[in-house]
Amino acid sequence: MVVKDDELPYLRRCVELAAEALESGDEPFGSVLVDGDGTVLAEDHNRVASGDRTRHPEFELARWAAAHMSPAERAAATVYTSGEHCPMCAAAHAWVGLGRIVYVASSEQLASWLSELGVPAPPVRTLPVREIAPGVAVAGPVPRLADEVRELHRRFHRGRG
Ligand SMILES: [Zn+2]
Repeated sequence: MVVKDDELPYLRRCVELAAEALESGDEPFGSVLVDGDGTVLAEDHNRVASGDRTRHPEFELARWAAAHMSPAERAAATVYTSGEHCPMCAAAHAWVGLGRIVYVASSEQLASWLSELGVPAPPVRTLPVREIAPGVAVAGPVPRLADEVRELHRRFHRGRG
């Protein structure tokens, strides 16, 4: 499934949100929830610096969707994100019945970047969304924005080292 040009602004917003997370001392991930008509309903960035490592934006958006959208609205919605959903977020996305996922950088890309930076492996395995939620349509990566996301992760981990 391809990423259309008119979807790029949503992905650029995800990268902006990731940069905002970085500026507030958090891991650079950002996500946007868009309804079937293209309207942005909610957005968030990583908030794990609080100490709660489940505070991923995709998880927050899945719970927001469950609270505020009908099942049909959720199925028609798209979640745009700077980095492919982790297994926790992919599961939440599928359990609440959200529609498509479009990501800038894949989990595989992120894992290889973090490995190059010497970042220890996370406690949860890195798996593609399709392994967790085979019924969810997924598009990505988006090469023209992936370098920006890579640079944000490099800055985050260099800043800590
Ligand atoms: Zn996640």
